[in-house]
Amino acid sequence: MSRVLVVEDSHTFSSLLSRRITEEMGHQVVVANSRAKAEAILSVDTDFFVALLDLNLPDAPLGEVVDVVLAKNIPSIVFTGEMDDELRDQFWAKRIVDYILKQNMDNVAYMLCLVERLHRNPTIKVLVVDDSLTSRVVVRKLLEAHRYQVLEAEDGLQALAVLEEHPDVRLVITDYNMPNMDGSELIRTIRRNHAKDLLAVIGLSGTQEAGLSARFIKSGANDFLHKPFLTEEFYTRVTQNIELLEYIAQIKELAEKDYLTKLYNRRYVFSAGPKLMAAQTRRGQGVVVAMLDIDHFKRINDTFGHDAGDAVLRQMSALLAARFRTSDIVSRFGGEEFCVLAMDMNAADASGVFEDLRQGFEASSVRFGDQIIRYTVSIGLCTSPLDGLEAMIRAADDALYVSKNDGRNRVTVA
Ligand code: GH3
Ligand code: MG
Ligand code: MG
Repeated sequence: MSRVLVVEDSHTFSSLLSRRITEEMGHQVVVANSRAKAEAILSVDTDFFVALLDLNLPDAPLGEVVDVVLAKNIPSIVFTGEMDDELRDQFWAKRIVDYILKQNMDNVAYMLCLVERLHRNPTIKVLVVDDSLTSRVVVRKLLEAHRYQVLEAEDGLQALAVLEEHPDVRLVITDYNMPNMDGSELIRTIRRNHAKDLLAVIGLSGTQEAGLSARFIKSGANDFLHKPFLTEEFYTRVTQNIELLEYIAQIKELAEKDYLTKLYNRRYVFSAGPKLMAAQTRRGQGVVVAMLDIDHFKRINDTFGHDAGDAVLRQMSALLAARFRTSDIVSRFGGEEFCVLAMDMNAADASGVFEDLRQGFEASSVRFGDQIIRYTVSIGLCTSPLDGLEAMIRAADDALYVSKNDGRNRVTVA
């Protein structure tokens, strides 16, 4: 269970925070209303992924509770009625996650976003590239305070090797002047294999050279920071870039996937399918196209209701997706009709694989409320490399039509 510690003497504010964190985000909240209570809790239990700390408590009026919590290595977001430059520098130096002014509700929303960010960050890999050990350590510590997974490289060549080994790195933060390969060349090389919407790059440089930020961006960086930078500026840039990647991923998911079954949609089949098939053909590998349609699905809706029909669609989709690899395309073409593009599958194996699948559907059942629903699926296959995806889909569809006419619940090869 993910847990959040709130230390706040105002009952109104702590219960507002608790309620929203519990209800909207599903984390468990433990509240302490004083520094003494917080110390008592932390002496037996330090399993919190973040702490929200009021800087002004009756028994700790100057933010002393921050030291107590940070000593237990718990990332801390502090909030306060007012903040001046001196106080701000003092708390940043302690490596807090961020500070928030209490005044209005917008700030509460910001705080909740930050909590969610910290919850997700341990799954995000960031690569720091700098020949200066001191700089790398500074950036690493800042990133670790926000719970990112940090990888390091001393120059561009090392960075490329690390990326090769960890293709799931989401953000690269790179210096400019480095031996072997400079930041700009590194970014150009990275961009040959990593698109801007999947991997963000922030350029970093201490030189005051005019035009460097533009050169970084033109090489393919998403953003740029001058050294030395303010902690707060660093975090806003990092967060903004990571959030942008997440928004793009969400939009892509909405555009490519079917909401009910989470399978790819028809549009995706026609946008990604031809490229995938061309690559297969170049490698001399076969592609099998299958069309599947649930039998008498209208009767299932009519007998058990539309929601039950949806449950059948979901279960059937899960069974279908489980049979194929991520390199295959499993899609809901529309209604109760599905299309599979199976890579590396030869004609001889195909009918066996889909016959097995058909039997799997026939043997399965869907529990909906207190009812058990059974269903069967008709399948048509195209196993010969016809001229293009559309031709193969048409042939598979014709074969499906034959399966339907021959009595349904069967596999026909075109
Ligand atoms: P056949 O064996 O010939 O394929 O008969 P069928 O009843 O499966 O085919 P038909 O095309 O006549 O009916 C398909 C039904 O699927 C009609 C439609 O209301 C239903 N349907 C389409 N999309 C959905 C959906 O998202 N949810 C539910 N519950 N039903 C859907
Ligand atoms: Mg049908
Ligand atoms: Mg139909």
